[in-house]
Order: sequence, then C-alpha cells, then structure tokens
Amino acid sequence: MAAASKGKDQALAQSHIPVAEGEEPWTEAELAEVREQLADDVAGFLKKYSAAQAGLAQLLTEGADMTGRDPADVGSSNFERDQEMSLAANAREMFEQSELALKLFDEGNYGVCEVCGKPIGKARLQAFPRATMCVSCKQRLERRS
Ligand SMILES: [Zn+2]
Repeated sequence: MAAASKGKDQALAQSHIPVAEGEEPWTEAELAEVREQLADDVAGFLKKYSAAQAGLAQLLTEGADMTGRDPADVGSSNFERDQEMSLAANAREMFEQSELALKLFDEGNYGVCEVCGKPIGKARLQAFPRATMCVSCKQRLERRS
C-alpha cells in the first residue's frame, strides 16, 4: 500500500485537517478515503478533459471547410463545437480544482477555506473532496457570477 511508505510528518500534518464546529475529528480511514476520492477525481477529470479536447480538435478539423454547406448544418456543428468547448472547459476546471485540493491535502493545508480561512467542514469535504471553499464563500461567489 502506498500510504504505508509515507513519512510520519505527513500523517501528522493530515491529523490537523480541521473540522467544522460540532464535527468529530477526522479518522485515518476517513482521510484515506477522501484522498483516494481526490486522486480518482484528478485522474477521471483529466481523462474527460483529454477526451473533450480530442473531440473538439476533430470537430474543428471537420468544420474547417464550411463552404457550400447547408446553413442548418453549419449551425448545428457550431452548436456541437460550443457544447464540446464548454465540456472541455468544465472538465479542465474540475481537474484543476481536484489537483489543487490533492496538493493541499499532501501539504497538510487541506480543509481550510481559501477565502475566509475557516474550516470547510468534514461533511462537505466528504461529499465534495475537491472543495477548497466553505459553503458560505462558495455561495457568495456563485451569486456574484
Ligand atoms: Zn469561507
């Protein structure tokens, strides 16, 4: 198991991952689970992103010559391209977020809101391991955009 080869310092850092008020401290099993989920997310989103990019590249090649095409065809392929573009952008964002969360985890800085510095909370992290913001900061951000 990979976890066994990790240093004692890291295990110590991980035990300092904060919980929200009223939550039980993290157990090692819970931490291992969250880290595994993060690693899965990083790999999964990277795969999705690569697939979306490949799809996009193909659409762009196919769509390069639009002369003499039915305008409805052009319209639908533009739509398809936009779809693929937002898919790629979305997957990339998820990938970057998961990667950042994983890095923070390994540095022992995981679980703290990057905006207000308060604990993100165990329940939230277990539901969204890639969360780097607490619920209220996240909601504030979403309302602004
Ligand atoms: Zn916050």
